[in-house]
Amino acid sequence: MKSNSKTISELMDEELLRESSITSNFRLGKELYESKNVEITEFTGAKVSAIVHGGTSRKVELILNKDFLNWKCTCRLNQDKYCKHTVAVGLEIINKK
Ligand SMILES: [Zn+2]
Repeated sequence: MKSNSKTISELMDEELLRESSITSNFRLGKELYESKNVEITEFTGAKVSAIVHGGTSRKVELILNKDFLNWKCTCRLNQDKYCKHTVAVGLEIINKK
């Protein structure tokens, strides 16, 4: 088990995003990503912060805690499933690989 050495970039893939979001938010997040609304402000192995523009700007943070990827977004807190902004940031991370 060398799992605790993974970075957010290594963990993030489209399968994870699809599993972690409802279909409509995946689609909306993809639209936000494709229209270049994601601005990454911090990018490390254990933390990614981003602003998602388009309508009201939202701040998204992804923080790696051991193998679990915590996320928060200023649109809605404490949701189980990724919001569209988090999906958009996830797609940006995948594309940075
Ligand atoms: Zn959001």
